[in-house]
Amino acid sequence: MLKFVGSALALVLAVPAVAQVSAPTSAPAAGSVVTYIHAGQLLDHPGKPPRGNSTIVVRDGRVVEVRDGFVAPPAGAKLVDLSRRFVLPGLTDMHVHLWGIGGDPMRARLAEATQDQADDMMVAVVNARKTLEAGFTTVRDLGGDARGIRALRDAVERGDVEGPTIVNAGQMISVTGGHGDGTNGLGESFADAVHAHQINVCDGPDDCRRAVRQQVGLGAQVIKFAATGGVLSNVSGGLGRAMTPEEMRAIVETAHALGRKATAHSHAAEGTKAALEAGCDSIEHASYLDEETIRLFKAKGAYLVPTEIAPVAALAQARSGALPPATIPKAEAAAAAMHANHKKAWAAGVKFAFGTDTGVSKHGDNATEFAYLIDLGMTPAQAIASATVAAADLLGRDDIGTLEPGKRADVIAVTGSPLEDVRRLEHVDFVMHRGQIAKPIVD
Ligand SMILES: [Zn+2]
Repeated sequence: MLKFVGSALALVLAVPAVAQVSAPTSAPAAGSVVTYIHAGQLLDHPGKPPRGNSTIVVRDGRVVEVRDGFVAPPAGAKLVDLSRRFVLPGLTDMHVHLWGIGGDPMRARLAEATQDQADDMMVAVVNARKTLEAGFTTVRDLGGDARGIRALRDAVERGDVEGPTIVNAGQMISVTGGHGDGTNGLGESFADAVHAHQINVCDGPDDCRRAVRQQVGLGAQVIKFAATGGVLSNVSGGLGRAMTPEEMRAIVETAHALGRKATAHSHAAEGTKAALEAGCDSIEHASYLDEETIRLFKAKGAYLVPTEIAPVAALAQARSGALPPATIPKAEAAAAAMHANHKKAWAAGVKFAFGTDTGVSKHGDNATEFAYLIDLGMTPAQAIASATVAAADLLGRDDIGTLEPGKRADVIAVTGSPLEDVRRLEHVDFVMHRGQIAKPIVD
């Protein structure tokens, strides 16, 4: 939903440099300390029934064993007592914006003229920490400064900064005047400066291939593009299809050829249809849906990332006068349409992967999305699966999503069963990320 004038503005000042794209190295093994976690109840594989008293054995950031009952730790091993808690895999949010924004897009927009990239990075570091403490151990960052988010991703991966594992898109690719064109609504002196250095904007299939390659060159692990207009961009273009089917095909083909998945920001059904036909792996928002689009979702096996809390937050901001006039009818339209259409999609058997567009709403409030998913018709077990096993599937990662031997030790705990009341996930008592305790239990 967001656009980022600031990141484009700052590129004016950036010295061109060789992109750092090397794969991050994992944090060094923590001296092979073995941790035994006693779990009162354990949802080791979301979608299957939970186990009773269990012990998870963790070594070098991985789950090595799950045993029934409370097994006493051997000498030298550490014990984490979650015997009065419900334990489950760390959650994944497939749509966040950690960069430079904290649930107040209008303030962020005004601050762009005076805020440096370094300031935005400090905000992103705080946002990452809040996200992790809320129980989200993995996020897909779908739009921010490409270099900055790449640096944050690698710092987390090294273990230098506490935050969730980040799968980064860099900047959202957009057509001129589209949702990701940072010059929309800017005064000419700013617009000219932004325009001269904007690399995420493309027109025509060849130019859009170039834009994908540049984001990959800057370290993007997934490609995001704006198939349609968006709520928060300061342009009265509506929420209709903005990109041609040829441009979308060029983007998705180039992303796939470079080993990246592609996801489309899309509101109008016409945009979603074209993105799905182009082979897109997931659709963000998908506010408007018709029968044909729902059928295409299923035929292609693509995921819908619902971001239900985003239009609610955007509408509240619009009504309080915090957003420019161009955004208000778009916020109203998206908020009115989205929920009913997602209900139809879920009932029809479309695959959902949990995502919130946090940044539009406040970082750390990500789990408030779960209640909306229940209202779509999901059971709590299905909602939790969307944020664990389904998210891992969409990311193409086999090391997260469950707590089985070989998986990353991304572990969270809550009081009481979230399978009875999913809103218990809004208050996470304990977080372990890759075997390191990020939020200790306080009894
Ligand atoms: Zn977004």
